[in-house]
Amino acid sequence: MSNSALCFCGSAIPFKDCCQRYIDGNQKPPTALALMKSRYSAYAVHNADYLWNTTHISQRKFYSKEDILHWATANQWQKLEIILATENTVEFVAYFLDENKQNQIHHEYSTFKQENGSWFYIDGKFK
Ligand SMILES: [Zn+2]
Repeated sequence: MSNSALCFCGSAIPFKDCCQRYIDGNQKPPTALALMKSRYSAYAVHNADYLWNTTHISQRKFYSKEDILHWATANQWQKLEIILATENTVEFVAYFLDENKQNQIHHEYSTFKQENGSWFYIDGKFK
């Protein structure tokens, strides 16, 4: 992708100036919303390590990096829409094409937690 390609999260600024800073570990997402958006972008660039590392340690037993990577790569991530964000929750809709190139929407109400200056994904309720 070109250096000025817009970020996957819909921020309308270049990926390198947006979520890539967090995914590459150069900066910490300052808010739950910034973390959520960067996790969406991590799905788009198939970065399972980032998704794993930003999942709260208490929740990692429910996931595997292989499953995360499969979910990231099997789908084509098209658009993220934020419905509502509070300090520690984000409701969003992710639009994607599944393995059969069918349009799908993933509507989730996610909860996050800040610990030692870093935000982590706790869990999500699916609508
Ligand atoms: Zn972004």
